[in-house]
Amino acid sequence: MNKKIKRRIIAIALATILTIAIISSAFGISQLLLKKNTSPQGLQAVAQDYGTITLDCHYSETSHALAVNQTTHYINHSTQILFDVKFHLYANAFQANAQHPAVAPSEVERAYPNGFDAGYAKVTTPHTTLNGSDNTVVTVPIKNGLKPGEALDIDLQYTIKLANVKHRLGYTEHTVNLGNFYAIPVVYDNGWQTYPYSYNGDPFYNEPYNFDVTITAPEGYLIATSGTPVGKNHYQGYLLRDFAIVLSRDFKTLARNVGDTTVTYYYLNDEIPDVSLYTACNALAYFSNTFYDYPYATLNVVQTDFLQGGMEYGALVYIALDVTDQLQYQNVIVHEIAHQWWYGLVGNNQTRTAWIDEGLAEYSTAVFFETHPQYGLTLEGIANQNKASIKMFEDIMDEYNVSYTRAMYGDLISYKMPTEYTINTYARGMLLFYEISEMIGYKNLNQALAKFASENCYKFATSYRLTHALEDNLGYDLVNFMNNYLAGKQNNVL
Ligand SMILES: [Zn+2]
Repeated sequence: MNKKIKRRIIAIALATILTIAIISSAFGISQLLLKKNTSPQGLQAVAQDYGTITLDCHYSETSHALAVNQTTHYINHSTQILFDVKFHLYANAFQANAQHPAVAPSEVERAYPNGFDAGYAKVTTPHTTLNGSDNTVVTVPIKNGLKPGEALDIDLQYTIKLANVKHRLGYTEHTVNLGNFYAIPVVYDNGWQTYPYSYNGDPFYNEPYNFDVTITAPEGYLIATSGTPVGKNHYQGYLLRDFAIVLSRDFKTLARNVGDTTVTYYYLNDEIPDVSLYTACNALAYFSNTFYDYPYATLNVVQTDFLQGGMEYGALVYIALDVTDQLQYQNVIVHEIAHQWWYGLVGNNQTRTAWIDEGLAEYSTAVFFETHPQYGLTLEGIANQNKASIKMFEDIMDEYNVSYTRAMYGDLISYKMPTEYTINTYARGMLLFYEISEMIGYKNLNQALAKFASENCYKFATSYRLTHALEDNLGYDLVNFMNNYLAGKQNNVL
């Protein structure tokens, strides 16, 4: 059968099944929120210990440029006196001939439908320097030093020229994506943890910040952001790992509440938007009940032009417009929402331990489908798909005599190609947690992960902390198992 026709029939069948599920459920959402520990006031109280980023942004449609005035209330959480503060400004990874370009050579044609177009940042604040790989780091000198525990307001002015690219940061015919656009404070942990951009994975390592953001754009644009609207074009958010904005003249919206959270679906082209919103609400409710209360007032699910399926930001996710397979589309929604817990509430260094957030997001997604049978997927079935993907990848590599690694703890740029990265972080990452769930049952693993989430909320997970937390909770000797798995020595996958 013609693949396209077959896909269309599956999409129609799925839409029918899910629509019936919505209608037959008295509340629409099968998982109602059980409890709510985190009040907005509670969130604001915790937020006082974290820095605040104030952004005043103006978008010009004619020059495709974003002018930004940024003030960062920076708190020195280290034990050192700091004589400079560093920020990542990733727009420069989109310049021509970047050493670590945002787009893999094999993806250039798909990413730039109108041919390559450069993006870059210009910083106009005096006494700052641009350095780091591809000038993606801004260094601000602190003349008299900033002592541990002291805070300082740091001003930065810059303009970002957006590339015409279907990426985290860029504009297309339909949308303006402003992901990772502002100057993001670099984590100081035994020195400044600056990393180059990478077309493999999500090259980010961010602490939570509070945000106060205004953005002006020409008349007619609808604006989706990571924050909660507090006035015209004015948004605030507390304890977010990132603040993203998407603009479009073509957005349609659908919204509903899950507990105290308003979930809004911004979409451009979706024949069954109520099903997509239903999936998003169910995912939010399920993960909130299972792992940790979702603390934010809003969650925006934004369909946009994007190269890589989806992307997670604080309280906002991108879902790629070109994911046409309906089941895959629902899968991306669940995966990106799972990241609100793994990357968002519990952070990690995504450049060095991508297996933590991607593995947990993939595993959590599989558990969501296991517990929501209307989608027709199971935990075991998804695990088997991952095993088959790994086998297919290794067979092809072997056939063409290309070397590859099974290790899961490489830096993003150490992976030779995006598929090698995906296999080792998504597929093996999911299987690592699946193997543990096979030993002790997924409900017990859910409980252990919930405890881990509550202990590490707004902090960073590391391989060590996660391994020992699971071991303590589950009473299993996991250190050898995890070490072997991460080193790629497991032989139980194939
Ligand atoms: Zn992901």
